[in-house]
Amino acid sequence: MTKTGFSATCTCGEVALTASGAPILSAVCYCESCRKAGRHFEQAPGAPSVVNADSGVEYCLFRKDRVKVARGGQHLQEHRLTAASPTRRIVATCCNAPMFVDFTKGHWLTLYRDRLPADAPPVELGVMGKDLPAGATPAKDIPTYSTFSPMAIVRLLAAWAAMGFRRPKTTW
Ligand SMILES: [Zn+2]
Ligand SMILES: [Zn+2]
Repeated sequence: MTKTGFSATCTCGEVALTASGAPILSAVCYCESCRKAGRHFEQAPGAPSVVNADSGVEYCLFRKDRVKVARGGQHLQEHRLTAASPTRRIVATCCNAPMFVDFTKGHWLTLYRDRLPADAPPVELGVMGKDLPAGATPAKDIPTYSTFSPMAIVRLLAAWAAMGFRRPKTTW
């Protein structure tokens, strides 16, 4: 049985999100942006490590309508790599733990897997392998795709259909 329903907390516990249902997908991303943002977050005082030794960042993707900020919303701050970017990464400023990635044009929310409990679903595949730095190889024995995996796209579309093709906004 796949576990459904998770609480995602920052390192100090001030901020908690609830994510209901099973993740749409659990994946490790090797893209340049995830790594760049991750390295940036890691430099903040007390921040947890974000980027794996193999240069990937692990995530669990949930439907946007199934993730709520349960407490500590006042600590959340958004970070965009460029002002015009549609992607914002949300950090808990109480302990500098990154919480989730919001592609504002999308219907899914990408939670940093490290914020989920130890029994969070394991990553199933790697995406954006084309951005792996020279000499780096994926550490886990799972399929790694150059860009996105067809299965990931199918699951995202299925989730969107189940949501009635809505794109809820994430607010707190
Ligand atoms: Zn990425
Ligand atoms: Zn915190």
